[in-house]
Amino acid sequence: MDKKKITNMEVKRKNRNEVFRYICKRGTVSNPDISYELKMSLPTATQITKELMEQGLIEEKGELQSTGGRRAKALSAVINVKQAVGLDITKNHITLVLTNIVGEMLKYERISQPFTPDDDYYRNVSEKLELFLEESGTSGDRILGVGISIPAIIDLDRELITYSHALGLEAVSLTSLSRFFSYPCFFMNDANAGAYAEGFYYEGTEPFFYLSLSNTVGGAVFSGGELIQGKNFRCGEVGHMTVAAGGEQCYCGKKGCLDAYCAAGCLSGAADGNPERFFELLDQGVEKAVKKWDSYTDHLAIAVNNIHMVLDCDIILGGYVGSYMGRHLRDVWEKVYERNTFEEREPFVRACNYKTAAAALGAALKVIEAFVSQI
Ligand SMILES: [Zn+2]
Repeated sequence: MDKKKITNMEVKRKNRNEVFRYICKRGTVSNPDISYELKMSLPTATQITKELMEQGLIEEKGELQSTGGRRAKALSAVINVKQAVGLDITKNHITLVLTNIVGEMLKYERISQPFTPDDDYYRNVSEKLELFLEESGTSGDRILGVGISIPAIIDLDRELITYSHALGLEAVSLTSLSRFFSYPCFFMNDANAGAYAEGFYYEGTEPFFYLSLSNTVGGAVFSGGELIQGKNFRCGEVGHMTVAAGGEQCYCGKKGCLDAYCAAGCLSGAADGNPERFFELLDQGVEKAVKKWDSYTDHLAIAVNNIHMVLDCDIILGGYVGSYMGRHLRDVWEKVYERNTFEEREPFVRACNYKTAAAALGAALKVIEAFVSQI
């Protein structure tokens, strides 16, 4: 095939992709809308939508209102033509979500399932996933795959979980896990998955840092629609950033890591293990909770300020703590502001938008994106 042909094919594909994404984003559009908004000729737009219709990806839904002349056909994406499952594995639970091609969360379930590093565990999880899909009423041929979020460093080149302190895993091949599932599996680090969910619906174009404050602390850099992975797939692992030299013991074996001060358990330990309850106690002004929050935010502010100094971007607080902190975000910002050398008045710390099952959702969305990008 000569170079010119390849180039033409690439352009056609890029246009088709752009049109499909535009239709998904807008909901209902016409060929003239596409032609105008995406700056392509009407015959090109019409040809592309014809192809997408033949592939079963979009459909006609009547006609659009017109201010004069012929009414244009209304076109919409067939949003449930393909779906993806997200599975978030944590030490004591699994979370499952089902999402469609535009990223709507169709079903969600959190199940108690203590992690054990053996075949029985994965068999159990796979059975629960099948049951979850059966209850959703979907059919297997629609499922593109399972996005699996796991608190681990994942080497995508070697297809290996290099290690997970949280789950006690080391050098586990991804295929040894995916063989238990009847769908293609895509693995993601949990903080990366949370960041991806946040980024999927993000309207802005600026990069951001996602700080995941859950059972463990992690983070991810989202930039240009993608996650930055790093040389060893450890970009954003701020849980092991030192915030107190010679300080508290971290589970990684070192002392003074952020994780030892800002994992969700540091707060929920003062509220029967329930992070949501912790913030209720804080709202009520219970002294134990107020004191705990004060020392928690001291360390969190150090980390946020350090991350911001390196990256100069917004920082989104996610995980259980980011999801429940609500109005208490202000306390974090006040301490960050005090530390900040450049006296930036515009708050650059925000709470996450996706508070329920963000990691499971992000992993599912990654599967959806892999499909959409090849349309
Ligand atoms: Zn550590």
